[in-house]
Amino acid sequence: MASGASENAAAASREAFAAWVDEAPEGRAFAQVLVRKVESGYEIRHMDDADAEGMDFHDDPRAAREISRLTEAGEHRPLKSAPNLRRGWSLRAADARELSVAINYLYPAAIVHWRMEREGKLEVTSYRENAARQSGIYKRVQRLSDEGVQNAARACCEDSVCLKTVRWDVDAETPLAMDRGEGEIPCPEPCSLFVAFARRARLFEREERERDAAGLTPSEREDLAALVEAAADGETTFAREAEFEEPRNERRIRYRRLTLVSRLRNGE
Ligand code: SF4
Repeated sequence: MASGASENAAAASREAFAAWVDEAPEGRAFAQVLVRKVESGYEIRHMDDADAEGMDFHDDPRAAREISRLTEAGEHRPLKSAPNLRRGWSLRAADARELSVAINYLYPAAIVHWRMEREGKLEVTSYRENAARQSGIYKRVQRLSDEGVQNAARACCEDSVCLKTVRWDVDAETPLAMDRGEGEIPCPEPCSLFVAFARRARLFEREERERDAAGLTPSEREDLAALVEAAADGETTFAREAEFEEPRNERRIRYRRLTLVSRLRNGE
């Protein structure tokens, strides 16, 4: 898209977004934030702080960049649409332009995608199309089976781990069979975090021929041992969000629940 056209699209999106907020006296929920029209412009805060007082106040929309960087526990947030936005702040935006600056730091590209979807113009890229463009160490995601893509999407993209609503499919003939989410922000294409997880899922698939007498692959055995040890030590926190090589990674555990638990229970 020419830069003039993309500037026009951005301007139209921010005006549409501000108008959508203006229409709602109680404000609008957008992923984890509440956006309200106030006398001096717009106010943005965490949904769970809707009625809280004594918040850290910011009147520069660029403060959203720092707010979105770390979780409450001080960990890096590689996926801005993960439901781990910290609380305790409120942001003032003077007008539609400042509002879009703040929202774009909190949820990059969300306003443009939101508007495109409302106008029926959101361009969607399937998993297979996205995978065909990968190179280097990510090229192997092209070999992930359809079932692997389905399980990776359920592990990575449902609302409990990502608040975007999944619009892409495995390919044109193979829809994702999952709870796609209910939020306002559409996801038109597998993100880089998802592709990294797909690579890990493909590594799991490659172990299929190495199952032991109990039917476990080497990494399944390793994960079970690590999780039992962690539980015995009272370790209840997840590993970092993008550390998929860690047995205690939340998405990895969700994937194991899908691919391993029924086999364990049924003794297969
Ligand atoms: S691919 Fe999945 S994890 Fe990534 S932004 Fe989309 S819905 Fe979220």
